[in-house]
Amino acid sequence: MEKLRYERPVIKKLNSGSMNKFGTRTEYTPVTHIDGASVKSLIEEFGSPLFAISERTIRQTYKDCLRAFNNRYPRVQMAWSYKTNYINAVCNVFHQEGSWAEVVSGFEYHKALKNGVPGNKIIFNGPDKTDEDLIAAMTNNSLIHIDHLDELYRLIELTREHNKRPRVAIRVNMDTGVYPMWDRFGFNYENGQAWDAINKIILNDQMDLVGLHCHIGTFMLSANAYAIAATKLADLAHHINLKFNKKITYIDLGGGFASKNNLKGSYLPGNIGNPSFDDYAEAICSALLNSEFSKQELPLLILETGRALIDEAGYLCGTVLANKRLSDGRRATIMDFGVNILFTSFWYDHKISPAQDFSHYTEDGVIYGPLCMNIDVVRESVTLPPMKKGDNVVVHTVGAYNMTQWMQFIAMRPNVVMIDLQGKPHLIRNKENLEYILEREEMPGYLADFNL
Ligand SMILES: *Cc1c(COP(=O)(O)O)cnc(C)c1O
Repeated sequence: MEKLRYERPVIKKLNSGSMNKFGTRTEYTPVTHIDGASVKSLIEEFGSPLFAISERTIRQTYKDCLRAFNNRYPRVQMAWSYKTNYINAVCNVFHQEGSWAEVVSGFEYHKALKNGVPGNKIIFNGPDKTDEDLIAAMTNNSLIHIDHLDELYRLIELTREHNKRPRVAIRVNMDTGVYPMWDRFGFNYENGQAWDAINKIILNDQMDLVGLHCHIGTFMLSANAYAIAATKLADLAHHINLKFNKKITYIDLGGGFASKNNLKGSYLPGNIGNPSFDDYAEAICSALLNSEFSKQELPLLILETGRALIDEAGYLCGTVLANKRLSDGRRATIMDFGVNILFTSFWYDHKISPAQDFSHYTEDGVIYGPLCMNIDVVRESVTLPPMKKGDNVVVHTVGAYNMTQWMQFIAMRPNVVMIDLQGKPHLIRNKENLEYILEREEMPGYLADFNL
């Protein structure tokens, strides 16, 4: 019989509070305040439910991210991903910190311009740019990231018609070892599409190819995927230099860093298991520094990080509407917010904290929203102390995508406040009301009256 291989035993510390073989308790202390602002008074003043965004956390997270990259690479520029959260006050915190704007539609493009972002500091991504969008982007000297050949050809036509020479990059998609591959946006690296697009741009000589872009996925749990992406883009830049003696001025690695949220089905909580900014920075910066770029040619590294910069800064404060027993005996708690405003509960297990004192007793249960739809589940299974009607809760890590993907179904979108560095709340988006909705509707004359 083959001798069994010896494996050295290891002793590992179990952290209380994180997952161990006894499971995890969800809550130890109530969350009564957010950055010094009392949850109860926030709800009293601004209503329930209510989104609250911590300015302090945004600025701190931004600085942490930038520091991780600045410590490893000499030229780094962030560009705020508007679609992650495009409430103007949020965008402007990022712009105050030095962030450019990254937009994926004409609507977002004009939002960034209105916020005062100079045209040449707006990166225009996305597969759906109209002629008007492309003309505006050329006129404002924005960075146009070309997504497909049809766009490339249309842009060549427009440059002739309008006698412009825009600054462009191409979006490249590639195999980074993470599947399913995001290959529906941009030009593929492995099959030669990207190289083909590069040749078409440079040899037609109607636009200035200044950058290379990729956005390899979202909530990427592998930092190494970025090393592969950075290496492939650096390789393209090297070949451009060899063939055309032309320097690429920036490499844009898009977004996709994981926030500290708990992805459904993952074993470890997000704040332990997900890669840190340092992990991502190490992968990306090492790949770029170890590539063929000489010291003088090192391109600007652009990052379009979205969710990882804003998720932790966002809280949703809400109120318990009712409790009930399900037919299988489980406790169900119904909140005044559902998937209509907490879209990300479809893929995250959001941490939920009671906002007032509670007993040591806990119970497993399910948390529902108020929508009359079976899919309106905020948490399928969560261990919480029992709460009664009127009690308040705080849902954590909701800053990314909820305030852009929220839907107006049955109820209207609630107030959003920004809590400033002194702990003072400022209203940054008014809750919608009936007039706001009706303003958009039209009634044909023949439908105006009825008799019941
Ligand atoms: C959505 C998006 C981002 C931001 O992605 P996150 O996963 O939120 O970091 C960045 N760049 C592009 C092109 C995007 O579409």
